[in-house]
Amino acid sequence: MTLDFDIRKSFVINILNHSKKLDFGSFTKLFFLSVIIIFLGTSFSEAAKKKDEKDCKYCEKYETLADWPESERPEAFIYEEFDYPEGMFTPKQDDSKKRQGAAGKLNYLSKHIKLFADGAMYSQNMVMRDGYLDNHQGSWLMSLDTFENLFKIFWDDGYQIHIHQNGDAGLDRLLATLKKNLDDNPRADHRTTVVHFGYSAKDQLEKMKELGVVVSANPYYVTALSDLYSRKGVGYERSQEMVRLGDAIKEGIKVALHSDMPMAPASPLMLMHAAVNRDNFAGKVAGPNQRISKIEALRAVTINAAYVLRLEKMYGSIEIGKYANFTVLNRNPLIINSNEIKNIKILGTVLKGDSLPVN
Ligand SMILES: [Zn+2]
Repeated sequence: MTLDFDIRKSFVINILNHSKKLDFGSFTKLFFLSVIIIFLGTSFSEAAKKKDEKDCKYCEKYETLADWPESERPEAFIYEEFDYPEGMFTPKQDDSKKRQGAAGKLNYLSKHIKLFADGAMYSQNMVMRDGYLDNHQGSWLMSLDTFENLFKIFWDDGYQIHIHQNGDAGLDRLLATLKKNLDDNPRADHRTTVVHFGYSAKDQLEKMKELGVVVSANPYYVTALSDLYSRKGVGYERSQEMVRLGDAIKEGIKVALHSDMPMAPASPLMLMHAAVNRDNFAGKVAGPNQRISKIEALRAVTINAAYVLRLEKMYGSIEIGKYANFTVLNRNPLIINSNEIKNIKILGTVLKGDSLPVN
């Protein structure tokens, strides 16, 4: 293998990517793809096999979820049409077309599903225990019934459940539902994932650890919103505690970072920068006690991101037996000044042994 850049002068990290043979050259595109896979790469095609569950909505009539006609499914099962990037599947295509369209670019991850608790951070639709200063209401994205029913179906069938959450009341719902399912049907290594982790209350962390959740957080909320939200809707105190990663790591909870593009730049280095510095658009630092170390931030965009997708045996660190995928940087993010992490340059990537220098 020949590298087109001098690897000895570079710092190399392994990145998470899920494709067999990508022809993209830039780290940004690779990460974008990883994020897409995290959120879209869930599979409805795996059959849920439990026929004896009285709460299973389709089991009496249909063999698998895929056999279940859309007209009979609850709203949460119906896909929306999106404009997917070229080469990606659209959910309404049949399976062979999905595989053809995505050939060589991505694979389905089976046995993963994303459910939705409360609304978005940017629109202030998260559901907050103490409400909003201007008295508007957040919103639930699934009714409690739908959320609980779907959670149980996928839990009992052994899926890893990823849950979109942004408010502390949303997190209460998530944790209560998880606890009930764990009590009824204990599962080891379930890796139930709190996705986005916009706002949480301090008293929830112990419970999160106890129930064994992992966190996939968007730290850019702090960068983009903490100053604005200190004045609008949320108030100063809560705005400083958005994306409570310092406390989560102290509690021993495994943390990964994602961009949720376009909710943050599709740049793992920018995400590391946001989590390590917590500086915002107003040039202030929001909640410095919630900063995380550089090494924790690096883990969060590499090995922990792989762990969230159960791919840590193949991706996420440079080890014998794993895919030789890594990114070559011009500076070492672990020793550079924290406030320069976002300025690190990508020299290129190596993908399954192929050198892909940035132009
Ligand atoms: Zn989401």
